[in-house]
Amino acid sequence: MSKSTVLITGASRGIGAATALLLAGRGHDLALNYRRDAAAAEALAARVRALGRRAVTIAADVADEAAVRAMFDRVDAELGPLAGLVNNAGIVAMKARLDEMDVARWRRVLDTNVIGTLLCSQLALRRMSTRHGGRGGAIVNLSSVAATLGSPGMYVDYAASKGAIDSFTIGLARELAAEGVRVNAVRPGIIETDIHADSGEPDRARQSAGVIPMQRPGRAEEVAAAIAWLLSDDASYTTGAILDVSGGR
Ligand code: NAP
Repeated sequence: MSKSTVLITGASRGIGAATALLLAGRGHDLALNYRRDAAAAEALAARVRALGRRAVTIAADVADEAAVRAMFDRVDAELGPLAGLVNNAGIVAMKARLDEMDVARWRRVLDTNVIGTLLCSQLALRRMSTRHGGRGGAIVNLSSVAATLGSPGMYVDYAASKGAIDSFTIGLARELAAEGVRVNAVRPGIIETDIHADSGEPDRARQSAGVIPMQRPGRAEEVAAAIAWLLSDDASYTTGAILDVSGGR
């Protein structure tokens, strides 16, 4: 995994952008996926290039199979062999109880958070697994402590999607363990990013300090550090692990 190409989904801001800057500083070339905000992705790519690394920005909805296939083809063509994938793209929806939600919302959340992760992982392993002629690699999935807390009254659909990510991480790790590909997850607690605005509570991170044992929300950089470690050769004997980065929550 040293000094190689990594694809980060949802890299235009938040935890994905912080991970990109950390990995660029450690010598990785980067494919920076985003959904809508091309200007933010381009600005991030410029910062990666200023650190001396190559960066390609790729617009693709991770739940859109054709767009994701085209994205991996571009990574092959423009950056060369993929060695790492960070399944970071993820969404929440408006704070609600289950009886107030509709099926369209569930599909949006599950398609992005679960199908997106499965699809990107499939296309990555076909490039990295020794079974497919690859040279090995590492996948890091973004789960959430919501997977263990369930997020009642907030977004149980999101929590369920992250529970799926935990199970998937364990299963895929065991499937690929003898094929040179490690698969792990990071389970953040409440982190200061823009994601909370999408649940209708933009100040959620600051306001939640009291329920966090460390009495503060986390920073994107603190999650990025865990992702970078799991991707790195320092974690060479770690697979199927789910690492809480949650201030004790
Ligand atoms: P964020 O600030 O809302 O950023 C989300 C990123 O994902 C953006 O770059 C967005 O791109 C992209 N994205 C959203 N939907 C996408 C799609 N369908 N296809 C491709 N890209 C898409 O989120 P964050 O807080 O950094 O969260 C990152 C991950 O950590 C998520 O999986 C989230 O569930 C998880 N997490 C976050 C927290 C937290 O408190 N922040 C806690 C636990 C887990 P555009 O801007 O272009 O739309």
